[in-house]
Order: sequence, then C-alpha cells, then structure tokens
Amino acid sequence: MLNHCTLVIATRNKGKTGEIKELLKDRALVIKDLDDFGPIPEIIEDGLTFEENAYKKASMTARMLGLPVLADDSGLVVEALDGAPGVLSARYAGPNATDQERCEKLLQEMAGRTNRKAAFECVISLAVPSGPALTYEGRCDGVITEAMAGEGGFGYDPIFYYPALDKTFAQMNLSEKNRISHRGKALMEMVTEFDKVLGWLQRHMPALERVGCQGPNQK
Ligand code: IMP
Repeated sequence: MLNHCTLVIATRNKGKTGEIKELLKDRALVIKDLDDFGPIPEIIEDGLTFEENAYKKASMTARMLGLPVLADDSGLVVEALDGAPGVLSARYAGPNATDQERCEKLLQEMAGRTNRKAAFECVISLAVPSGPALTYEGRCDGVITEAMAGEGGFGYDPIFYYPALDKTFAQMNLSEKNRISHRGKALMEMVTEFDKVLGWLQRHMPALERVGCQGPNQK
C-alpha cells in the first residue's frame, strides 16, 4: 500500500535504511529504499555543501517517485586541511578508491601536523514532490589518529577518534556509534519532533490525509 504514509530513504545502503527503520519503528510508516523501486537515474552530488547535496537527492527523488523522500549527505571535515575532504569525502582518493585507500591518503596529508581536530557532519533533508523540504543537522567532534585502529564501521571510522569514549568509531559497536554520531544525532533531531513532521507531510501531500499517518490510535 504505497499511500499508507510511505517514506522512501534515498539510499541503497542497507546499513542506513536499517538505522532509520530502527529509529522510526513505532510509527505507522512504510519505510522503503531505492531497491524497492525500478531503475532510477543516479543523482550527481555536485553541491558545494552537505545541505545542497542532501536537498538535491531528496527533492529530485521525491519528484521522480511522487512520494516523500529522506536523503542524507555526510562527510569528514578536518580543521588543518581547511575543511577537506568535506563534501568530497566519498571521492577523496579518486572515484574507485577503497575505504582503506581514503584513510591512508588522509593520514598522509596529516603527517607531521599537530592540529588533528576533525568533525563528521551530516545533513538530512526530507522533501515532498512539490519541492519543500525539512532539514536536520548533526555533528560529532573528534581527532584524526596517527594510524588506523578498529575493525568495525566503514569509511573513515578507523582514523576518527572520539575522546569521550576513548575509541575510534571503528572500535565502537553500532548502538554506541549511533548515540553520538553525526547521522544518529541528525536522525534523533527529526524523530523527537516526528508528530510535527507528520503534520507537515500531510499538509504538503494532501492524499496522505485520507489514509492517516498518525498511527493506529490517532486516525
Ligand atoms: P555519503 O553521505 O553516504 O555520501 O557519505 C560520504 C562519505 O563520507 C562516505 O563515503 C564516507 O567516506 C564518509 N562518511 C560518512 N559518514 C561516515 C561515518 O559515519 N563513518 C565513516 N565515514 C563516513
């Protein structure tokens, strides 16, 4: 039932879909991701900010599918590198590089530098097909290590040290990371005002009003 308050996550990354499903599990929502639909043209992430990229992904996908779409864009911002790799985090060591190669390149760039402050940043955009969107942000401050440490996570996790837990992101389990991570914080910001979000969705997607999105006790 597509109209039963369907929310599409603009990703094929099952980890991301799983995280979002977990946070919204008590809501009367059908959560889908791009794998639930036929081929969809790839959206080029050429914005200069995380917000531009997140909005572009969310609004273009919403228009293509005729449904509300949530997209996130995130990356690592390193103070001593003037904010690099930033929006280029996924392509920092070239288009076909591995996570390990991206970490190695960053460690090389940081060799000999004493200021090792960095932050992961995330922007989430929730857009409807007609264009309007809600935006949520999350940030997690940390330090770039001297060497890779830890086996978990993905991306730059092995070189991002979080002092309060005395661990890199790659040394944390998923629930530890979700509690303090940039993406976890942005999602929590949205979830804590989710009743308002549903009201906003109903105003911008009038067809949803007829089926109700507030959950079994509030129709
Ligand atoms: P995207 O938002 O999925 O496009 O992610 C951009 C890039 O930022 C990813 O390819 C990763 O390299 C990096 N990144 C984003 N979030 C994380 C994270 O939680 N841990 C490690 N790397 C991340």
